[in-house]
Amino acid sequence: MTEAIRTRLWIGNEWADSGTGRTFATVNPATDETIAEVAEAGAADVDRAVRAAREAFRDGRWRRMDPHKRSRLLWKLADLVEANADELGLLETTDNGKPYFEARRVDVPSVARTLRYYAGLADKVQGDTVPVPGPFLNYTLREPVGVVGAIIPWNFPLSMAAWKVAPALACGNAVVLKPAEQTPLTALRFGELAAEAGFPPGVLNVVPGFGETAGAALVRHPGVDAISFTGSTEVGRIVMREAAATLKKVSLELGGKSPNIVFADADLRVAAKGASMGVFYGKGEVCAAGSRILVESAVHDEFVDGLKTLAGKATVGDPMASTTRLGAIVSGEQLDRVMGYIEAGRRDGASLVAGGDRVKVNGRGNFVNATVFSEVDPAMTIAREEIFGPVAAVIPFDGVEDAVAKANDSLYGLAAGVWTRDIGKAHRLAAEIDAGTVWVNTYNQYAPGSPFGGYKESGFGRDLGFHSALEKYTHLKSVWVALDR
Ligand code: NAP
Ligand code: MG
Repeated sequence: MTEAIRTRLWIGNEWADSGTGRTFATVNPATDETIAEVAEAGAADVDRAVRAAREAFRDGRWRRMDPHKRSRLLWKLADLVEANADELGLLETTDNGKPYFEARRVDVPSVARTLRYYAGLADKVQGDTVPVPGPFLNYTLREPVGVVGAIIPWNFPLSMAAWKVAPALACGNAVVLKPAEQTPLTALRFGELAAEAGFPPGVLNVVPGFGETAGAALVRHPGVDAISFTGSTEVGRIVMREAAATLKKVSLELGGKSPNIVFADADLRVAAKGASMGVFYGKGEVCAAGSRILVESAVHDEFVDGLKTLAGKATVGDPMASTTRLGAIVSGEQLDRVMGYIEAGRRDGASLVAGGDRVKVNGRGNFVNATVFSEVDPAMTIAREEIFGPVAAVIPFDGVEDAVAKANDSLYGLAAGVWTRDIGKAHRLAAEIDAGTVWVNTYNQYAPGSPFGGYKESGFGRDLGFHSALEKYTHLKSVWVALDR
């Protein structure tokens, strides 16, 4: 792609010019080429999108539609996502730098599954009748909260859009979606596909722009009832603070520094593979990345040898090549951050056993090879801060108590892995670790029905799941009816 495409905003099922008149470039991080000049939404554009969503919500065109029909529209959108899977996969890879097989074979199918799962929720948003004293009938209604502002990151652009949009729409809300500035293209196409599926205008609007302007305008807007945010802990704090002015319902899916715990009694070959996949999949740009690998001392050296071999096999290359396992880091800025952490690991005295190099593919792009540090002290920066790149910190431990203490010694609490053949130990760890998700003898499993979110500074609220979607995207109303007059 040599000639950059121009895109516009997606408001009320139409392409709209940005009031700012400004555009920003989105770049293919594997080639440094500009893919598209994207119209930049400013505060006035966000206001227009919120008004379109408000109107769509107010007049009932969506929330009062036969729920069965809403369900069919979500299902239809899933069909269209599948029918356009090659194009969406290509857009995602070009924008984000992830291997095409990940975008095409993992992300896009998961988007279709998420949409279909929530298609099944649309006609099950229901309340209860409640036994109360006196001559009254009391019942609850589950009602949509109204206009949902969805703000998402750049690591899984289309999946994150689906995680927010599908449940919000299934519950009858209207949505304004603000994709990350690095990766706005699949979200725009998703909006267009929703219109093609038959979603009424204003139900889904997409406003690419910068966090400090478009994102902040959405958070402050009095016409937005809830903010569903996925991103860094740092920005999550700002969002919560800003949302306080209008007391919006807020949910925050934030960063992580997830422990992946390998006991001496685990199948070490399988554990090494799981740990490698857990930290290197998606270039390590995964909120749940198992970036702290805790290894029981007795098997430490053997395990590190295995991990080193696997890191060497994680081929860095052109994201379009089928042999590539590590694609391009999303931006030059992010690569600089990752390299800064690698430098910090070296400086702090951790032992670099694999990777650590900035790499070019065909002389261009932002790449780094799979990096493993061993002999990491839990106090080191690389053991404490989220790197968001393919960098593993291996930390030794001794016994169950020490494993739990080290696993929980973090401000974050998003996910964790446990590798052991002892089921008692596995369940004990699952109960004692402060994390929203625990994987036993596996890692990085997701399904639309299984809730995902954080403890501690990894945020609150859950994406995915059935009840978590109802909690997040509906109000619970209590209705009292006197029966004796
Ligand atoms: P980020 O910098 O926090 O940005 C996330 C989103 O917030 C982007 O759309 C961003 O817009 C926007 N934003 C920035 N400043 C804002 C403000 N003041 N008000 C409103 N919105 C604002 O995160 P990122 O670098 O894109 O993504 C990486 C982070 O996401 C990591 O920490 C990762 O762990 C986390 N993450 C968490 C989960 C989870 O489910 N827990 C999943 C995926 C990723 P711009 O792009 O224009 O700045
Ligand atoms: Mg990009």
